Amino acid sequence: MPVIGVTGGIGSGKTAVTDRFASHGIDIVDADVVARVIMEPGRPALEAVKAHFGEDVLLEDGSLNRARLRQVVFANPDQRRWLEALTHPLIAEEIQQRLGSATPPYVIFASPLLTETAQSAFCDEIIVVDVPESVQLNRTMQRDSNDQAQVERIMAAQASREQRLQMADRVIDNSGTLEQLYQQVDALNASLRAQYAESGQ
Ligand code: ATP
Repeated sequence: MPVIGVTGGIGSGKTAVTDRFASHGIDIVDADVVARVIMEPGRPALEAVKAHFGEDVLLEDGSLNRARLRQVVFANPDQRRWLEALTHPLIAEEIQQRLGSATPPYVIFASPLLTETAQSAFCDEIIVVDVPESVQLNRTMQRDSNDQAQVERIMAAQASREQRLQMADRVIDNSGTLEQLYQQVDALNASLRAQYAESGQ
């Protein structure tokens, strides 16, 4: 099954894009969703985290206290590496399983970290949702009621606009209206359907 990666910085419009692809009946595998799912109660990753960090990183109902875990690993690079060594293979496995069970003609793999991680290896092509940094900043601040410094910190930790554009096979310009965004996604869907139906993949 052809895998089309969709990436972009915080607040660039990835969710708006993938929601539109989904409205055309295209399956979406979302790396953020997978990262949460592998840490659900009953999953081996949560058991390992509990054994390593103790009950302190759990909420009262036994689910993961994400804010607490973030604090712990943020303060300690060794612990962060331990957590990544545990979770990255499990996330990759779950992503592969979901991509493998998606329906034709192609599947969208949405990840904010395609540029930063080996996840680009899952993709046959990569679509980058692109906006100027000022638009990214304003839309994210509005959506999350975060202040400018907070959003700028997150943006600084992500790949740059140029780095993302360098790996793009196709670019969606989301600096305009939502209607203009949807028109681009609709055209891309038509193009991808034609391409992958023709190649018989
Ligand atoms: P994150 O990486 O933080 O999950 P994202 O890339 O998924 O972000 P969205 O949540 O889709 O980005 O978009 C960010 C915000 O901007 C949302 O509130 C969304 O409704 C809004 N938005 C997206 N595209 C447009 C647009 N073309 N015009 C106006 N608002 C938009």
